[in-house]
Amino acid sequence: MRVYISVDMEGISGVVAGKQVQSGEKDYERFRRLMTLEANAAVEGALDAGASEVVVSDGHGPMTNLLVEELDPAARLISGSNRLLGQMEGIDRGFDVAFFVGYHQREGGNDGVLNHTLLGKIVYEVRVNGEPADEAMINAGLAGAFGVPIGLVTGDRGVCEEAQKRFRGVVIAPVKEGLDRFTGITLTPEKARVLIREKAVQAIHATRAGLLSPYRVEEPVTFEVDFKRTSPAHMCTLFPGVERVSPRTIRIIEHDYVRGFKLFWGCLIVGAASFEGIL
Ligand SMILES: [Zn+2]
Repeated sequence: MRVYISVDMEGISGVVAGKQVQSGEKDYERFRRLMTLEANAAVEGALDAGASEVVVSDGHGPMTNLLVEELDPAARLISGSNRLLGQMEGIDRGFDVAFFVGYHQREGGNDGVLNHTLLGKIVYEVRVNGEPADEAMINAGLAGAFGVPIGLVTGDRGVCEEAQKRFRGVVIAPVKEGLDRFTGITLTPEKARVLIREKAVQAIHATRAGLLSPYRVEEPVTFEVDFKRTSPAHMCTLFPGVERVSPRTIRIIEHDYVRGFKLFWGCLIVGAASFEGIL
């Protein structure tokens, strides 16, 4: 049983403020450690249930948050920011199940803590085949394209509930509930880790029992991005296959989800670089 774990930071227990997840800020060092321990809880649950291999992908900001020296030594870590599949780098290497740890609601989804979609500074909304998408949905589409189901989602209650609607058989571990984008009611990290480990065990059992199925997005797939400014939409038209459908909105239609995702991901990178006019 090979397990892939994508870890984000905004949905880690205790996190309620932007400064807690930004490198260079004082509180960041505390919360990156808690992020690492929450990833460990998922790794340990997978191992408890008999997983043979676990790969952890750091999926937040610069993607160098997880403390490799404190990660469970049974796991291997994907760390670093230059990636073709974003938070799911390496998912194409063959896994039986994927977990999402520390995930959060999409921008504007509801009052989820630090709700945003991938690059919160520049992205207002992402739609996949017309449906507003959170990171869990976008990333599950990638996993699904490689035949990998989503077994566990932990983080903000809102993202967990969305996941339950979309991913058949998924096990959830909500560790906090947003009262506002910057306020939440949260489990303590210790309780969150107990819950995540227990739910990770259940998720492996569910995988083995055949209760899960990969989340496959209908193809051809349409990605649409509403940016917060016009400049990213303008500069994304550098790529063939990107259509600017309104001053702030681009559209990509591809026959293959992974190709579509890569073009979308490239647009976000160019979008971020062009947002402040620094290209
Ligand atoms: Zn993040």
